[in-house]
Amino acid sequence: MTDSDAFQASSEEVIAYELHGNCYLNITDRCTLRCAFCPKFNKTFEVQGYDLRLKHSPDFEQVVVAVGDVSRYREIVFCGLGEPTQRLALLLQLAQHFKLKGATIRVNSDGLANLLYGRDVTPELSGLVDALSISMNAQNEAVYNHHCRPKQGYPGAYQAMLEFASKAKAFVPSVTLTAIDGLEGVDVEACREIAADLGVQFRGRELDVVG
Ligand code: SF4
Repeated sequence: MTDSDAFQASSEEVIAYELHGNCYLNITDRCTLRCAFCPKFNKTFEVQGYDLRLKHSPDFEQVVVAVGDVSRYREIVFCGLGEPTQRLALLLQLAQHFKLKGATIRVNSDGLANLLYGRDVTPELSGLVDALSISMNAQNEAVYNHHCRPKQGYPGAYQAMLEFASKAKAFVPSVTLTAIDGLEGVDVEACREIAADLGVQFRGRELDVVG
C-alpha cells in the first residue's frame, strides 16, 4: 500500500481505497449477514492488501476528504467489509455529492436493505446510484443460509434479496447479481439462470477478490 492509493481517517483506518482505477468506500463494518467465507469472520479485515478494520464510523466530511478528486476514478464504489446500506442516509448523501461532481456510483450490497428497513428503499436510489452489484451467492435458500448465515431477525433473507434486485431494476440502470465460483454447493449456472429470469445481469466472482 502507498500513500497515493489508501486514504485514511486516522493513522490506522482506511475509509477510501483504490483498486482497478476505482475508489472504494469503507463506510461501515456492520452487516446483516455473517458470511462464513468473509475475511472478518476468519480473523482478518485485510482485503487485497488493505486493512479495512474500522474503529469508528466515518462521517460525510471524512469520506469526502478521503476521496479527494473524484475525476481520478472510473467509479466510486461503496464496498467495505460491511454492508453499505446499513448507513443508507450517509450513502445517499455521499452519492448525491459525488454525482454532482460527475462521478459514476456503484453500490456492492447484500441486497437486504428492504428487509432491514421494513420498506422498499429502491426508489431512493433513483438518480444517485448507477449500478448495483448484489451478492446472490446461492441458487436456493438452503445453500444461501449455509454460506451467508443471516443474523437472527432476518428470516426470508434469500427471497428478500431476490425481490430487492427485481425492484431495483426500475430505479438503477445496471443491476447485477453475483455468486462466488467454487463455493461448496453453489451452482453458478443455476444462479445465472435465476438472474436471467429476474431480468438482471449476472457475474461469477472469485473469493476474496473485490470487483
Ligand atoms: S455481507 Fe460481505 S462484509 Fe458482510 S459478512 Fe458477508 S462477506 Fe462479510
